[in-house]
Amino acid sequence: SNQYDVVIIGAGAAGLMCAATAGYRGRKVLVIDHANKPGKKILMSGGGRCNFTNLNSTAANFLSDNPRFCISALKRYTPQHFLDLVERHGIEHEEKAAGQLFCKDSAKDIVAMLLTECEWAGAEIRMKTNVKSIAQSYGSYRVNTSSGTLACTSLIIACGGLSIPTMGATGFGYEVARQFGLDVLPTRAGLVPFTLHPELKQQLAPLSGVSCPVDAACNNHNFREPMLVTHRGLSGPSMLQISSFWQPGDPLTINLLPDRNILEDLLALRKQRPQSTIAQYLALHLPKRFAQAFNEIHGWSGPLQGYKNSDLEQVSETLGQWTVKPAGTEGYRTAEVTLGGVDTRQLSSKTMAALEHPNLYFIGEVVDVTGHLGGHNFQWAWASGVAAGSAA
Ligand code: FAD
Repeated sequence: SNQYDVVIIGAGAAGLMCAATAGYRGRKVLVIDHANKPGKKILMSGGGRCNFTNLNSTAANFLSDNPRFCISALKRYTPQHFLDLVERHGIEHEEKAAGQLFCKDSAKDIVAMLLTECEWAGAEIRMKTNVKSIAQSYGSYRVNTSSGTLACTSLIIACGGLSIPTMGATGFGYEVARQFGLDVLPTRAGLVPFTLHPELKQQLAPLSGVSCPVDAACNNHNFREPMLVTHRGLSGPSMLQISSFWQPGDPLTINLLPDRNILEDLLALRKQRPQSTIAQYLALHLPKRFAQAFNEIHGWSGPLQGYKNSDLEQVSETLGQWTVKPAGTEGYRTAEVTLGGVDTRQLSSKTMAALEHPNLYFIGEVVDVTGHLGGHNFQWAWASGVAAGSAA
């Protein structure tokens, strides 16, 4: 009874999708996971409503050392395929920002849907099961677990990345990859808030909770989305997005008024209302608290008529290219994803199997494919899960 066609380690997004796909093909499938509940990250995703896909997802929304690797799986299992599944299960959903689909009610609906699919496909799920070791002999894998030894023809590693260890994240997938001779590219936290050096942190402290739309740039990438000041540093979609491109020591360049031509505005205002102040200009376009604090930080005072053109140029540069050197990030503790991971050059882009071990597969976040914020990471989990589940 402990003999399976397919054993999947990890009952998260990719593992459950893969299990249902392989089960529908008549494979005897078992999913094992050390956590007490399946799909824990799905439950906490999208603020509890799970941004389950992005209708505009393309390979351009992913970071990888081998950028073309994800194309095949993403083309074969598209956001529309997942949306069709969601609709077949009668789950109400809504598009929040362009292409970003969320559950209307709760992320629980997505987990329930995946568990139902696994049940219909005859895939078994065994939680609270620890893997002690894995061995390969005579064309099959033996997985030694806390609930006995399992034997399988195909072994699928779907145990995610290192982000949010309190939710059960471990580096186990990387260990398995290394055990079988695959390279693991350096990992780091992605889609993660920034921490600040004490002086700026103190200056921005009164702004905790304030959000404003910005254009944030770093290393030739930029995102025009809201920024949120928190009591620990800078967060919000623009900061999470740019964090995936940030390396320690890099400065961020933040345009606080991306919709304005700041210098033109200031020159015109000085001409029309010479008595008005920079604080008043800021208050027109930024949340009041933010405008006030930013003005204080830079010590801008007095009427605009007292500012020379070169002064206004400097003010405009400060607002349009506010340079912030983060102290670091909050790390895996709060990161939504882990960048890096199993080197895709040693995997088949069609099936996710290791080229040197055709019955060993790696899917989801453990692989060096990381999406932008906005539903792309789940789309990768679904697509890579289906790719492996269709082949195993
Ligand atoms: P996971 O979903 O992490 O599943 C891995 C599973 O493996 C877990 O169940 C874990 O318990 C198990 N496991 C780990 N180690 C072991 C081990 N040693 N033995 C046995 N089992 C093990 N992405 C989006 O697209 N949209 C969103 O709205 C979104 N919101 C997010 C919000 C938060 C707070 C976080 C942290 C992430 C969010 N993400 C979102 C990212 C998304 O959750 C991941 O990309 C996705 O869950 C990866 O799927 P996975 O199956 O590869 O890994």
